[in-house]
Amino acid sequence: MANNDVSADLRGQYEPVIGIEIHVQLNTASKAYSSDPTEYGAAPNTQTSPISLGHPGTLPMFNETQLHSAIKLGLAVGADIREVNEFARKNYFYADLPKGYQITQDKTPICNGGFIEVKDADGNPKRINLTRIHMEEDSGKSSHDIDPFNTLIDLNRAGVPLLEIVTEPEFRSGEEAYQYLTEMQRLVRYLDISDGNMEEGSLRCDVNISVRKKGAQKFGTRVEVKNLNSFRNVQKSIDYEVNRHIALIESGGAVTQQTFTFDASRGKTQLLRDKEEAHDYRYFNEPDLQPVIVKEELIEELRSKMPPLPKELFAKYRKQGLNEYDASLLTDSKEIALFYESIIEHTKNYKAAANWMMGSIKSWLNERAAHISEFPIPAAKIAKLIDLVDAGKVSNTAANGDLFKSLLEDPEASPEQIATDKNLIQESDTKELQTWVDAALAKYPEKVEEYKAGKKGLTGLFMGEVMKLSRGKADPKLASKLVQQSLEK
Ligand code: ADP
Ligand code: MG
Repeated sequence: MANNDVSADLRGQYEPVIGIEIHVQLNTASKAYSSDPTEYGAAPNTQTSPISLGHPGTLPMFNETQLHSAIKLGLAVGADIREVNEFARKNYFYADLPKGYQITQDKTPICNGGFIEVKDADGNPKRINLTRIHMEEDSGKSSHDIDPFNTLIDLNRAGVPLLEIVTEPEFRSGEEAYQYLTEMQRLVRYLDISDGNMEEGSLRCDVNISVRKKGAQKFGTRVEVKNLNSFRNVQKSIDYEVNRHIALIESGGAVTQQTFTFDASRGKTQLLRDKEEAHDYRYFNEPDLQPVIVKEELIEELRSKMPPLPKELFAKYRKQGLNEYDASLLTDSKEIALFYESIIEHTKNYKAAANWMMGSIKSWLNERAAHISEFPIPAAKIAKLIDLVDAGKVSNTAANGDLFKSLLEDPEASPEQIATDKNLIQESDTKELQTWVDAALAKYPEKVEEYKAGKKGLTGLFMGEVMKLSRGKADPKLASKLVQQSLEK
């Protein structure tokens, strides 16, 4: 086989074409068509009623929360929401599919269209259009690596509701795919429809990859990479496959339609299935489920209850004057964004609020590997600290130091009271300050003359003296102004 070292020049002659299918496990309390619980990590085969086990004579019953989750995601990406939703049986035989078919939506996906925005290689915004989002159910889980002789089957997962999200083949790099997945994960978490956890399998993706000569109309033959366990590995598997395809084509070979997995330890894809056979799933309408009709009122009700979305908050924070870095860190997780939101309900100093979030608060969380919900100080008190600093009453260092520490120990305490008790209030009373300034100038009469003769660098000496006399309590800004004024007299 050709080796995979492809020169940048050669790579530049080809265009990667990539499409992604994501399966998102919804965080509903019960399964898609039964009241079985869906808790992750329960003992194997304990969340399995006769419905999940596919016993003859059992009937599915539709879980409305699945529908609501699908509509919320559809609204968030700007998709068209279908009114008449039918269900179909996708028939195939496998040991972890006891019914012998999966209930899915074949011709009538709940959502069509919509998009997620990423940045292209030049840093320009680029839309990745979605083909469809449809509702379906998960299969059971087969484990091939626990027992050396047998495959073990856990049917707890059978019937857990899923959304499948399919994109158009519009990614042109692994980096774009990485951004898309990160954004989709953030979105399902903001919407609180899934925990989006790749390690626990609640967000899984399959990647379709092909290359074509730049300018060519026709797509190349694609391969599929499955069972990816991190977004970085998605990106790496794309980069790897793109190079492999180009090297293969350049050496006179041809890409075959195959399915791969990614071996992260070797940084390479590995063949799973050789020839992708054309499945005949014998789709037909699910006779046991009525079509679900989505009324306009339901869509409007869900729209009115939508949480703020990450891209909206990002735009809002940029408008408030935060830089791109701060705005994206703040919107990384909904809980962080919401805490910031509650600080800025009480202060208009956005930059200071962002600094608190990214500085002292983040450090506190990181040191404890804690979640923001465990942070003890109410947002309003952080806003109060910002006010105290802005008013010149306490220094920024004292606010982030002693005051912050005391509030962590006693979140009910009043920041001003602590500042007073701990002698942290800066003296900004002009009269008292002026007496210190006068005393400082009186101590060095000859230096005052030198200053007046042009040695402007001497202000530092007087300031030092003022701070000494005030035992650090003088508000430096005001003190410096008074020193200046007194010297110019
Ligand atoms: P299937 O039903 O076989 O999975 P789909 O038509 O649903 O195929 O496509 C699955 C994914 O593959 C979609 O995200 C689509 O954009 C992508 N895709 C289709 N053709 C190509 C191609 N030639 N190269 C890369 N991705 C492709
Ligand atoms: Mg598919």
